[in-house]
Amino acid sequence: MADSYDVIVVGSGPGGYHAAIRAAQLGLRTAVIERDETGGRCLNYACIPAKTLLRTAEVYDQARNGESIGIVADGISLDFGRLQQRREEVRKGLTGGVAGLFKNHEIDLIRGEGSIVDGGVRVGDETHESASVILATGSVALPIPGTEFGGRILDTWGAWSLPELPESMAVVGAGASGSEIASAYARFGTRVTLLEMLPQILPAEDKDVARVLERQFKAEGIEVVTGARVENVEAGEGSVSFGYGEESEQVDYLVIAGGRGADVAALGLDAAGVGLDDDGKIPVDGSQRTAAGGIYAIGDLTPGPALAHKAQEEGIVAAEAIAGEEVRPIDRDGIPGATFTHPQVASVGLTEAEAKEAGHEVKAAKFKLGGVGAGSVYDDRDGMVKLVVDAEYGEVLGAHIVGNRACDMIAELVAVKELEGGYQELAARIIHPHPTISEAIPEAARAIDKWAIHA
Ligand SMILES: Cc1cc2nc3c(=O)[nH]c(=O)nc-3n(C[C@H](O)[C@H](O)[C@H](O)COP(=O)(O)OP(=O)(O)OC[C@H]3O[C@@H](n4cnc5c(N)ncnc54)[C@H](O)[C@@H]3O)c2cc1C
Repeated sequence: MADSYDVIVVGSGPGGYHAAIRAAQLGLRTAVIERDETGGRCLNYACIPAKTLLRTAEVYDQARNGESIGIVADGISLDFGRLQQRREEVRKGLTGGVAGLFKNHEIDLIRGEGSIVDGGVRVGDETHESASVILATGSVALPIPGTEFGGRILDTWGAWSLPELPESMAVVGAGASGSEIASAYARFGTRVTLLEMLPQILPAEDKDVARVLERQFKAEGIEVVTGARVENVEAGEGSVSFGYGEESEQVDYLVIAGGRGADVAALGLDAAGVGLDDDGKIPVDGSQRTAAGGIYAIGDLTPGPALAHKAQEEGIVAAEAIAGEEVRPIDRDGIPGATFTHPQVASVGLTEAEAKEAGHEVKAAKFKLGGVGAGSVYDDRDGMVKLVVDAEYGEVLGAHIVGNRACDMIAELVAVKELEGGYQELAARIIHPHPTISEAIPEAARAIDKWAIHA
């Protein structure tokens, strides 16, 4: 028998490391078990690598198209090798930072694959005892039927870690991840086809917002195909062919950014008495407790959107519950979505269609970013803010932004929604700095009662 702990966290992704640090802050003797690099998939293979490449796409695109704002630059080229090197530098810095935080908080990092056993977690031949276990093992990419990852068929990590810029690429799945890959590679100069089975790209987002992004994608040369079921995928040495409807296409790489499944293979859930729901996720209560005593689950393992910030908050809830603190369950309707395409898309709460389906009497209004001065200053005129509010009391039910700063701007609307604020406060009294794109938020709120100043 090895050391014994108050809490062992299995997995060191955003969920796991937040849980471990919070547990240690609350005085619990804590260990983290990780079979790969610290920081989980988010820091090593997903969020952070993706955003690092997207940042280069943004600067490259602006540098090449800067004439209208007075930047004339010749001979701009993309050093793809350097770009991938920077991705690795950023990753290393951040994952090393997580390991450093573990040290600072006297959290033991145990390397290896963990599985639940009676009274603790087993790694190799050793059992580490613990009163409580937090499962934070995240999710894995799933191929579409009739395909396997490998060679010319890539998962999202394969796409973000390509050693050379491909000439052509098809991306299956226009959710956040697939749209980000399409957005980056199109701006790098790859010919991109983006295929979505559902009728709109970003199917979870409000259709007005998705339409703005689709228009921009098409302007950037992305071939967007909705209602497309990809089949007959045949991968060769140097290319891959596939069909959809009556069409067929051949590209250098096919990227599958469809679904993900909870990574539970090594955990020994059955023996531990932890079940899965119909979506293959681990059901939990408001304290992130599973059905098995002393076992908690967080992040991509549990129901709700697979997002790093959800995992982080759930980690804090689980740690506080174990430490005996009073916890407030996660409000899943308050988890913002953030897609770092060009332009960005961010949202919180219900789309207009969802609000109506849920039986709300709604009022909704849109305000274009070009309506406020900053939209012109920062070259961000086409985006918009859309608010969906309860018709009777004005409570914000949903907020949707498309624009170059959407993922930062949404934070204000998350706060207003969570504090049960109404659009009336956004329209007047909450003061926004000038000149910023955020001024479009009070304007969207005023537009609900048809008094937007710049309309
Ligand atoms: C391409 C891409 C881009 C994304 N971008 C964003 C974004 O911009 N913003 C956002 O919020 N979300 C984003 N996400 C989603 C985000 O990556 C996940 O929601 C997040 O990583 C989930 O965190 P987690 O802590 O649940 O697990 P993970 O980050 O998946 O970490 C789980 C860890 O557990 C380890 N592990 C698994 N099994 C075991 C075991 N048995 N023993 C020991 N260790 C084990 C794994 O090695 C891994 O390190 C993106 C996802 C993808 C695929």
